[in-house]
Amino acid sequence: RQRESQSLYQLTEKAAEFYRAQLRSHPAAGNAVAYLRNRGLSGEIARDFDIGLAPPGWDNLLNALADTSEKADQLEQAGLAIRRQDSDGSTKSGGRHHYDRFRNRIIFPIRDQRGRTIAFGGRVLGDEKPKYLNSPETPIFHKSRELYGLWEARQANRNLERLIVVEGYMDVVALAQFDIRCAVATLGTACGEDHIQLAFRHTSELLFCFDGDRAGRAAARRALESALPNMQDGRSLRFLLLPEGEDPDTLVRQLGGERFQQLIEEQSLPLEDFLFDLLSEDINLQTMDGRARLSKLAAPLLDLLPAGVYRQLMLQQLASRTGLDKDTLQEVIRAEKART
Ligand code: ATP
Ligand code: MN
Ligand code: MN
Ligand code: MN
Repeated sequence: RQRESQSLYQLTEKAAEFYRAQLRSHPAAGNAVAYLRNRGLSGEIARDFDIGLAPPGWDNLLNALADTSEKADQLEQAGLAIRRQDSDGSTKSGGRHHYDRFRNRIIFPIRDQRGRTIAFGGRVLGDEKPKYLNSPETPIFHKSRELYGLWEARQANRNLERLIVVEGYMDVVALAQFDIRCAVATLGTACGEDHIQLAFRHTSELLFCFDGDRAGRAAARRALESALPNMQDGRSLRFLLLPEGEDPDTLVRQLGGERFQQLIEEQSLPLEDFLFDLLSEDINLQTMDGRARLSKLAAPLLDLLPAGVYRQLMLQQLASRTGLDKDTLQEVIRAEKART
């Protein structure tokens, strides 16, 4: 088992080297480099994140790394090669039973906390679908437990005062390009409890900065729910809602690093404001009915908070917004809990 993982790490490392080299020397590299430039990325940042290129073609990686069928099987295990459905061993590409998963894509290596390359994300250079492709789950890659950019952020900062959680690879890299080197992204999945726990092992403040669209707002709500059970005293959560249609990548390129930082400091909301604003969205707090509804909506969320100062402060906050006292609200929490 352990030995198996060892050889998978070696293989993903070699694949990363291969993709990196293709970005420098493959005949198709010009296109890819132009694409990256066009998105505002310098060669230096591309190197910091070890960005690479999977060239066009069905078996570039296989040809480079798998001279035996055993090695092709290993590439499959590493999520880098796909077994042909109809393989009879005699068809195209020299009788191979596999083809490369990543073809004609910009490659983002995903590293674990220790800096080992464990998986890849790949982006098309144009408008083809799917826009992004990630490695599947493998013995060394569990996407619900990894954060893209965490290792790079740790390399760049002795102390991480905060981590900015964004949606995409490009957001992480674009922020780094503007010297904001503390962004991490989930890998095409919702931000779950494992992500939150991982992030809080390295910092005490998380700032969520998702896309200014419906999906981004849903992601923020989901992240909030994953974070609440992990809000021990001393930790903090903030949320920055971006203007409709923007993401951190587009915004930092418009504003520049300093003004983006400023936006974060001035416009991000602490947990209590974000949560109650979100819940109050369609509620008229001038009415008694509205205040009752807010208490009921908030009850199950506040109940996710661990016992501690935070929970008390949030209760106080709800009390001041609804005009109910804390004991009554505790009652509401108990009642709502019993109801479900
Ligand atoms: P770009 O700026 O390169 O166009 P983006 O990062 O803004 O892309 P979004 O559509 O906002 O892309 O998606 C955010 C993230 O969600 C992506 O970085 C990727 O990790 C994941 N994702 C998006 N589309 C897909 C897809 N079709 N399959 C898998 N993951 C995806
Ligand atoms: Mn989006
Ligand atoms: Mn986006
Ligand atoms: Mn984007």
